[in-house]
Amino acid sequence: LTLLGLESSCDDTAAAVVRQDAKGVSILSSVVHGQAEMHADFGGVVPEIAARAHAEKLDLCVIEALDQAGLDLRDLDAVAVTAGPGLIGGVMAGVMMAKGIALGAGLPLVGVNHLAGHALTPRLTDGLAYPYLMLLVSGGHCQFLVVRGAEDFSRLGGTIDDAPGEAFDKSARLLGLPQPGGPSVEAEAAKGDAKRFAFPRPLLDRPDCNLSFSGLKTALLRARDGIVAEKGGLTRADRADLCAGFQAAVADVLAEKTRRALRIYLEEAPGTPALAVAGGVAANQRIRAALEDVAAEAGAVFTAPPLRLCTDNAAMIAYAGLERFGAGQRDGMDLSARPRWPLDMSRPGLVGGGR
Ligand code: ATP
Ligand code: FE
Repeated sequence: LTLLGLESSCDDTAAAVVRQDAKGVSILSSVVHGQAEMHADFGGVVPEIAARAHAEKLDLCVIEALDQAGLDLRDLDAVAVTAGPGLIGGVMAGVMMAKGIALGAGLPLVGVNHLAGHALTPRLTDGLAYPYLMLLVSGGHCQFLVVRGAEDFSRLGGTIDDAPGEAFDKSARLLGLPQPGGPSVEAEAAKGDAKRFAFPRPLLDRPDCNLSFSGLKTALLRARDGIVAEKGGLTRADRADLCAGFQAAVADVLAEKTRRALRIYLEEAPGTPALAVAGGVAANQRIRAALEDVAAEAGAVFTAPPLRLCTDNAAMIAYAGLERFGAGQRDGMDLSARPRWPLDMSRPGLVGGGR
């Protein structure tokens, strides 16, 4: 089976070709056009600009992806597309493009939940078998999921406010660092002293695996304003120490809550458990290392995708589509774009509430 995948739910326009045959699963191409420069002046992703850019870039991405794979539309078995959740204009651009290709080339259409794309990535990269515990940490989400199948997810807990990626992005903004904030904060943190500023470790006093990140951002703001009030501005070292303290707090909280989630998960899944992480924040080395330690402590197998497959890409969408398509599922021309689509209600037709 060979699928084309399209992704346009946030600020990356992407197309990829993924194949599954007797040898296993392979990524034949994966093209990502980011929009960071377009949004740079606005301090965040502007939905209208994003939607327009997706509409302009999608066809180029598809041509490039097919080219790099050395294939044309006739070689495909289906087209998979992110149908949500995300910025609705961008998702619509992708869904319309996929419908156009499906109609024009006579191919089946498969709608994919963007979060399922992230959550199934360890199967694409490492062939991880079901079931596994997934920590999905991205720009808009943070949740512990028990993944039992391509459309079988249950949520053990998650953030009650900001997502960690969002917290990294806002923190970067507070310190005048470039977007996306994750990589810039990580680079600064590498030069800093994580112990200089005391950051809180929110919700560790509660036994569940829910998390909170908005307090960390506020702590950073207060520490920053404290230094500015005292010295009139931030030095490079101040900035690095703030980043290091913030990042260490995020890593500690994620690690401790993962420890608890693994404990809960182990009660229902005896045998060697598997822990996987995905989403943009999973690109962070400090966080990956902390989670790897937690997995080792619990005797769990640990999987973290390569960095380019942690952040948004279409290979994960093509792959998730492949799993759905392989199981005989497809969508009609009535496939709609959804701004919200929680994973634990992932079957099409079930419309759910918030993140
Ligand atoms: P979602 O998947 O929840 O809809 P999204 O698609 O915008 O959101 P991703 O592309 O998965 O999110 O991840 C982007 C986020 O990952 C950004 O917030 C970015 O700052 C963060 N990120 C990327 N690299 C790193 C890093 N090295 N350290 C921490 N955060 C990172
Ligand atoms: Fe994403």
